[in-house]
Amino acid sequence: MIVCKFGGTSVGDAAAIQRLVEIVNARQGERPVLVLSALSRVTNGLLALVPAHPTERKAQLTMLMARHEDLASTLTAPGEALEALRADAAAIAERLAGWADGSVDAELQDWLVAHGELWSTRLVTAALERAGVPATWVDIRPVMRTGGQCSRAVPDQAGLPGRAQAVFGPLLDEGRVPVTQGFIGSTVDGRTTTLGRGGSDYTATLLGAALEAERVEIWTDVDGIMTADPRIVPEARVLRTTSHLEAAELSAFGAKVLHPATQAPLLERGITCVVLNSFAPDRPGTTIVSGFRPEPVMGCSPVRAVSWKPGVTVLNIRSPRMLGASGFLYRLFGVFHEHGVAVDVLASSEVNVSLTVDADGPLEALCRDLESLGEVTLYPNRAIIAVVGVDLRGTRGLAGRLFQAVREINIEVISQGASEINVTFVVKAEEGAEAVRRLHREFFGPGEVAA
Ligand code: ASP
Ligand code: MG
Repeated sequence: MIVCKFGGTSVGDAAAIQRLVEIVNARQGERPVLVLSALSRVTNGLLALVPAHPTERKAQLTMLMARHEDLASTLTAPGEALEALRADAAAIAERLAGWADGSVDAELQDWLVAHGELWSTRLVTAALERAGVPATWVDIRPVMRTGGQCSRAVPDQAGLPGRAQAVFGPLLDEGRVPVTQGFIGSTVDGRTTTLGRGGSDYTATLLGAALEAERVEIWTDVDGIMTADPRIVPEARVLRTTSHLEAAELSAFGAKVLHPATQAPLLERGITCVVLNSFAPDRPGTTIVSGFRPEPVMGCSPVRAVSWKPGVTVLNIRSPRMLGASGFLYRLFGVFHEHGVAVDVLASSEVNVSLTVDADGPLEALCRDLESLGEVTLYPNRAIIAVVGVDLRGTRGLAGRLFQAVREINIEVISQGASEINVTFVVKAEEGAEAVRRLHREFFGPGEVAA
């Protein structure tokens, strides 16, 4: 069997859903399970209901529903799909009516936002059925059991294979195409949770591993994983082949094609992942395989891609107590762990630790607790630049070339560490795009051949 995940723009309108139907139709023999995102912009639309004024909320909900109803009437036979959508909209209106203006209840928010995926899957199931593809709508929530943390729930991976096989196995055996939601799950007691923004990719690979898929296809709106973000580097190229690890490095830092956790479930089992463009389904895309090691080739660029991540804050902790003390970093990271804040880049000296955190995390509370360890300073509005490549550590002269290319840009935190495929540093957010462009020009400019 295979897992095919379609992102928001790949189910965003009637034309997109029609292309999806064709893609799935062509793959019926491979026993596909479909994992879908919400229609493009719907997750944001649902989240915007939270702070909206009650009358505005009503108007916004009506608009969201109208988009789904329009699609239902164009693509599906009258019946269940539309009825389910309307029943959901009524339930949302009812729960929101009792919701004080502006208050944010994280549990209610997860429940609310999950409807984007619940609706897109209803629509697509009905559209497939109408086109003669035998499809069955599956509620993923009892299968994707998670912890209780709202908006970033952690899936229970140990129990997943059993639950997934029990639900999807019989449907596949009957020759049906199961259509299910990415991004959402539920706690043991049935409360709806979500896996974090962009989490549908993660659902797809979790299911792929649980069902021992032959391959996981991620259908998106770009040609694959690229040598840089094409919105800031128009001449960026597609990487035809990459490894799970390299893909993980790239998606952690802003390539935004894949959710950063996506590759983890596939790594262990060596399941291939293919990133494809649903707007141009015949293009080859990027194939992500285990154990792929691009050979460092003489005369070829050692760099495979340059990526970046804006929206980052640098946190600096200065503490003379670090001098010669053991266990300092242990205590430091204990505080990060307690607050559930992940660190991307780290550099440390005798009395100083600099690290980067996402700007939207609970930084105030974190800093309060860190004060007991040392003097904490925050530097907001930063961007991480990551240069990913082949054996960067062993490439003589690379650091010189790299920093020469961005010599006019002030560089704040540098981390090369043990990773042989990644050199990472931090710049001011407003200089991030320029840094990426310069580095891309240096390593992928005329005369450079991509490895
Ligand atoms: N719909 C969710 C989001 O926009 C999940 C996803 O698309 O992967 O974040
Ligand atoms: Mg996505």
